[in-house]
Amino acid sequence: MNFPGTLVEVCPTGVFTDKPFLKHYSRKWDLQSAPSICSGCAVGCNIAPGERYGKLKRIHNRYNNEVNGYFLCDRGRFGSGYVNSDARLDYAGIRKPDDSFFAVHQRQAIDTAANWIKGKKVAGIGSPRASLEANYLLRELVGADNFCAGFSDVEGSIIASIAKILQTTKASNPSIKQMEGADAILILGEDITSTAPRVALALRQAVRNKAFELAEQMGLHAWQDAAVRNLAQDQRSPLIIVSAMDTRLDDVASQRISLAPDDIADFGVAVAQALLGKDTDNTEAIQVAKILKDAKNPLIISGSSMLHQGVINSSVAVAEALPKQTMLSLALPEANSLGLALLVDGGGAKPKRVWRKSAGDISALIILENDLGRRASEGHWRVC
Ligand code: SF4
Repeated sequence: MNFPGTLVEVCPTGVFTDKPFLKHYSRKWDLQSAPSICSGCAVGCNIAPGERYGKLKRIHNRYNNEVNGYFLCDRGRFGSGYVNSDARLDYAGIRKPDDSFFAVHQRQAIDTAANWIKGKKVAGIGSPRASLEANYLLRELVGADNFCAGFSDVEGSIIASIAKILQTTKASNPSIKQMEGADAILILGEDITSTAPRVALALRQAVRNKAFELAEQMGLHAWQDAAVRNLAQDQRSPLIIVSAMDTRLDDVASQRISLAPDDIADFGVAVAQALLGKDTDNTEAIQVAKILKDAKNPLIISGSSMLHQGVINSSVAVAEALPKQTMLSLALPEANSLGLALLVDGGGAKPKRVWRKSAGDISALIILENDLGRRASEGHWRVC
C-alpha cells in the first residue's frame, strides 16, 4: 500500500510516528503551515506543508472532498526531503565555469544574467515540473516561437493530444470522488498506482461498491464495515486491467489481460467495436464490452505512461461507444503536464527545433527546472 503515512496523521496517541519528522523534530504548534498542492504527480492532492526555521518539516493532508479527501500517498507525504537538501539552490547565482563555487550572488547575479541576454536571441526550455507562472514568464521573455515546453517530442505530442481529447470528448472527466462511485472499471495500459496513487486508492474503494450494493439489499448500513465485508466475501465490482506488465492493482482486479502495447490498443478498439455492435472475433473484448454496457456508472482509465497514442485513442473510443455518459480519466506524468500543454497550446516549439536554433542563430538558452537527460538522447542536447 502507498498510504501508511495516513495512519501517523490520524493516530491520536502517538503510537504511530513519522520518522522523517522526528529526525528534525519541532513542536507541532511551532510550525507555520500554508495551503498548497502536492507536486508529486498530476493528481493535485491538497496539502498543508509545515515549516520551522526555513526548513520544511512535514506535509499534512488538506481535506478536499473532490480530490484527496482524507488521504495523501506516501510519495506526496514523505517525498519532499529534497527541499531541505544543501545541494539545492535556493538563491540566484552564477557559477564559475571551472568549479562549483558561485562567483556572483543574488541581485547582482540577476543583473548580470539580464545584461548577458539583453538584445540577443534567446531560446527557452520550460518544464512540466515547474510552476505555470515560471513557464509563462519564460515564454514571455523569449517569445512564443523560441519557447519549447520541455517535453520530448513523443511525450509532447501525447500530452497535447490528451489536452485536446479532454476538451472535445463527450465522455466526462471525473473527480476522484466520482471515480469512487464507478461500478465497472477498465484500465488500458496504465499502472495507475505508479502514475496516480490517489486514483488507485479510489479504484480500490470503487471495487467495494458491489459489497455496498449487496449490503443495501440486505438492509445493512455501509458503516457496519465488518458485516458488509463478511456478507460480500470476495465479491467485487469488476475491475479489468489490460496491461503489458504486472500492476499493483492486480490483487483487486476481476480480470487481468496481459498484452503488448500495440495489442492493448487493438483490444480497446475491439471492445469499442463490440459496444457499437460491429463484428469482432475477440471473445474477451466482447465479454468486457458486456460488463461495461451492463454497468450503471462505468469508468475507463488510460494515460501517457506507455507513450502510445493508439492506447489512448482506443480508451476514448471505448468511452464514447458506451451508450450512457461515461467517465474517462487519462493519467498524465507530471504535476503541470496538462497546464503546460494548454499554455503552449499543442506542445509549443518542438525541443529539436529549439535545440537546433540554439546551435545556430540563438545565442543563449534558458532551461527552467528541467533535466533534459530524462527527455532526450544525449545526441539531441549535446548540440546546445
Ligand atoms: S497522489 Fe500524487 S498528488 Fe496526491 S499525494 Fe500522491 S504524489 Fe501527491
